[in-house]
Amino acid sequence: MTKPQNIIAKISQNVKKKNWVCLVDGCEDIAINSHLIQQNGILNNITENGHLIELKMMDAFKWNSKDAPIVFRQIGVKQALSHKVFCNTHDTNIFQPIEQTNTDFESYLAFLLFSYRAVCAEICKKNVNIEFHTRMFNAQSLIGQINKDTIEQIINGNKLGVKDLQALKEYLEAEIETQKDTYTHYVYKYPKMDVYASAVFSATDITYPREDGAMDLKNIYIHILPLSDETLILTGFHNEHTSDEMIDFCKSWEGLETLDLEKKLTTLFATNIENWGLSPSLFDTLSEKNKTDYIKKLMENVNDFGIFKTSDFNLFEQK
Ligand SMILES: [Zn+2]
Repeated sequence: MTKPQNIIAKISQNVKKKNWVCLVDGCEDIAINSHLIQQNGILNNITENGHLIELKMMDAFKWNSKDAPIVFRQIGVKQALSHKVFCNTHDTNIFQPIEQTNTDFESYLAFLLFSYRAVCAEICKKNVNIEFHTRMFNAQSLIGQINKDTIEQIINGNKLGVKDLQALKEYLEAEIETQKDTYTHYVYKYPKMDVYASAVFSATDITYPREDGAMDLKNIYIHILPLSDETLILTGFHNEHTSDEMIDFCKSWEGLETLDLEKKLTTLFATNIENWGLSPSLFDTLSEKNKTDYIKKLMENVNDFGIFKTSDFNLFEQK
């Protein structure tokens, strides 16, 4: 008999191979691997011998339950923050304004396009999750081996999430088209740090029960872009779906000392976003203890949402 763990690993492998259709409405073409942050002008600034470091799920075939299921892993720059989101044509055309040499990454349009890509990537991740759990739910070979109620809850949670994200996607599409300043965006500059990230996250603490059909549209966008000689932090929100707490959060990235910036990034990466990476040489300066503690915190916070207070823990503290 095949062990349930291996059946699940096989399902996961098959789902990874699945083709997805481009997320642009009406487009039927197969999605290619799109990058949340492009190589040219950004990731190439911190890539070393073609490599970067990101968080990856452990291979389910090799994983034993004593180890953390998430690990730091060296990846090729081509795999950096990539998901099957758009077809080749749309991936090229939509993001052409930020793929030029001399792109103004501080511009409102750049903020909108990075945010749009982050929302679409999040939809893809949720769709992959739904597919994976649906296949588990339906697998004859797993009957009696898995808790179907839990699986169903995960599927439904992801479906709700996709519904919210679809709305965010439509708002962004309209704004990219018309640019009527319906979003507020902030730009902060720091000395270059070998870290990158691009994400959208909910500012709502969803442990509070949701009213039936209520949407969660209060979301914060944040993009950390290592340029050739400085690091840009872009953050912002939709003006009709905001709160004082969200505005404070966005403004709190201004004028930080290095140590405070490092702590703030650590909290962000341990709570709200897992779409981030760093250069191999920066990774080498992190202590083993901090790396282990970081993964532990990430696992503890996996079901928490909303805005978090910056903690004292600093993953980037030099060894
Ligand atoms: Zn397309």
